[in-house]
Amino acid sequence: MIVAIDGPSGTGKSSTSKAVAETLGLSYLDTGAQYRAITWWMLTNGVPVDDAAAVAAAASEPVIVSGTDPAAPTIAVDGTDASGPIRTKEVTAAVSSVSAVPEVRSRITALQRSIAAEAAGGIVVEGRDIGTTVLPDADLKVFLTASPEARASRRSGELKGKDATDLSATREALIQRDAADSGRKTSPLKKADDAVEVDTTQLTLEQVVECVVTLVEKAADAKSGGSRGPDGAGGAGGADEKAGQISK
Ligand code: C5P
Repeated sequence: MIVAIDGPSGTGKSSTSKAVAETLGLSYLDTGAQYRAITWWMLTNGVPVDDAAAVAAAASEPVIVSGTDPAAPTIAVDGTDASGPIRTKEVTAAVSSVSAVPEVRSRITALQRSIAAEAAGGIVVEGRDIGTTVLPDADLKVFLTASPEARASRRSGELKGKDATDLSATREALIQRDAADSGRKTSPLKKADDAVEVDTTQLTLEQVVECVVTLVEKAADAKSGGSRGPDGAGGAGGADEKAGQISK
């Protein structure tokens, strides 16, 4: 069972993905952490992050290892735990330009595909381009959205005590990062045509998790042939049908 959960930041993607994986006994991969890790390596090794050619030339150097236990996900770069440093303001400000470089994307995409292929029992993979590019044959694709206000207030809640900034600055930074991620040429942030869109603005985390768990169970049922109709159409139904059910 491969589950792709995409969407911009502040939509509850990480919390939802981890909780769904834990509930269903699946592995979990945070692909944003991998892009942050390679960005952190570039910054600490003096690679000018706005110079795409310099970033491309260095893209194959860092060794990035992701731990996929949803209860305790890890990220290491060249053998060093990077889970703290990848969440700093500096990394957040630089990650969109590093992740737009095609050589970075092809390297990280290959890593993500090999992790997904090796995950015994299935995996929840969260990111921006999982349903469109990394795992286009995922059994279920979910695209989370939320209003800019809800996203900014969730992000500033997460940042409390770390790199806390005020709400409007957080909102501006989010909007800028979305624009960069959605506007890049290679593998932009985009809903896959067959993804189920879930607007989390008015939902609690528990409600979003419950909704996605139900979708995974339906997709699993369809995969095993349990609810297949005579024409072979899966029980998870078409994207429009599913999206309609959720928005009610
Ligand atoms: O999810 P998170 O906010 O940690 O992601 C950090 C950045 O990594 C995003 O803003 C985006 O530039 C990049 N990213 C990406 N593709 C993914 C996941 C993240 O380009 N699949």
